[in-house]
Amino acid sequence: MGHVDHGKTTLLDVIRETSVAVGEVGGITQRIGAYQVNYKGRKITFIDTPGHEAFTSIRARGARVTDIAVIVVAADDGIMPQTVEAINHAKDAGVPIIIAINKIDLPNSNPDKIKKDLTGYNLVTEEWGGDTICIEISAKKKTNLDEFLEMILLVADLNEIRGNPNSEGTGIIIESRLDKGLGPVGTVIIKRGKIKVGDSFVAGDSFGRVRSIRDENGKKLEEAVLSQPVEITGFPSVPKAGDKLFIVKNEKVAKELFSRKDYERKMMKVADSRKSLTLEKLSELAKENEIKKLKIILKADSDGSLDAVEKSLNNIREEKIKIDIIHKAIGAINDSDILLAAASDAIVVGFGVVPTQKADVLYKKENVEVRTYDIIYKLIDDITLAFKGLLEPEVKRIYKGKAEVREVFKLPKVGIIAGSYILEGEVERGNLVNVIRDGKLIHEGKVATLHRFKEDVKKVLSGYECGVRLEGFQDLVKEDTLEFYEEK
Ligand code: GDP
Repeated sequence: MGHVDHGKTTLLDVIRETSVAVGEVGGITQRIGAYQVNYKGRKITFIDTPGHEAFTSIRARGARVTDIAVIVVAADDGIMPQTVEAINHAKDAGVPIIIAINKIDLPNSNPDKIKKDLTGYNLVTEEWGGDTICIEISAKKKTNLDEFLEMILLVADLNEIRGNPNSEGTGIIIESRLDKGLGPVGTVIIKRGKIKVGDSFVAGDSFGRVRSIRDENGKKLEEAVLSQPVEITGFPSVPKAGDKLFIVKNEKVAKELFSRKDYERKMMKVADSRKSLTLEKLSELAKENEIKKLKIILKADSDGSLDAVEKSLNNIREEKIKIDIIHKAIGAINDSDILLAAASDAIVVGFGVVPTQKADVLYKKENVEVRTYDIIYKLIDDITLAFKGLLEPEVKRIYKGKAEVREVFKLPKVGIIAGSYILEGEVERGNLVNVIRDGKLIHEGKVATLHRFKEDVKKVLSGYECGVRLEGFQDLVKEDTLEFYEEK
């Protein structure tokens, strides 16, 4: 992962070229977003989805594919916003990080500066007594690539990264597509056991049978083993990236599995049903004394406000509280922020900034809480109240429709009924109403009853006339405008 143009693609390409068996080189055209290299008799699988968005969106679905994150930083450029994002995404995922300081062949490269800057993100290189592995490389000149691969193996060993080759086959889908000839195809990384042609499996909420397995070079295989990236066919429909794939005995077992209550959880179909944390929920938890930690992704419009908000957040001193700002940056709330929040159960706080268009769609889909503020004390208030269990639920007004009063009737015992025409939307009994006269709001109230001819009705749609009676308000006149809405 890393900032654009820092050399991720180049690095992946040269490793691939230099590490495959000589005889194969000419014939290789990588078809899938992951590949395996051999180094000193051991295998390393590189997942070639260089953006951390892909990394985190798979994680947001509850799956963990990556064992080690390599973050590429160009030595002539330094730590950039996307580098910081990548660092924080990897940190939150809890995977070991290797920093590859790239482009050291360039005369203006300054690896020491990068190492120094990294300390600002709590990544202290080993040379300076820390535990972050930094390796200086040049992807272009192929400098230190062996050492780089060596480091990956070392980190794998130190962290005891292992899988069980003998347990039931399980994989995670990292990519999928619909192939004209082959049908639905999924790129799968095997996380446990092995997967063989003919095996029955469940993936997401569907059942299938492995029809074919190919490696990243298109070579047909009979089976795929631990950590191998392969393309599998036999899905009934196109699977989703992030779905898990389990080998099962047969269709009967699959059906049993589907019907089990814990299936959803097991398959971690999280995006749809994820219990996302919101300040309101936090408030509920606080009432029950269950709070532990609130993770926040903080975006602000300037360095100054970022610092100020961070300081104020860190100053909140309530018992039981721990605020953890897992990522902070200047700029609009982007989709990567949302994905990180979804993956880590964080909330996103914007100060003087709002979500980008894409992020706006995404946060609703992912059920992520996004809060935007312009005033620090309001932000701090909300969070403090949430921690104390006192946060009032946020009320949203939802516009329903608009009507024009065309006639006013006075009925004995009942009161004023406004004969109205629904101009747009609809109105429902019990809706809230704004009465507007000559452009001024003259009353805020509630719709008591609605009538069509002699009938009491519950709802009236636009284009129809109806009688509207408001609760405790008798002062309607012809040509008043009624705006209806509800509160949620
Ligand atoms: P990505 O956006 O991170 O995938 O970056 P690319 O791999 O596309 O590289 C961006 C540019 O940097 C390309 O022009 C590469 O040729 C160049 N580049 C990559 N690695 C090196 C390196 O080690 N040294 C030098 N001088 N240039 C490099």
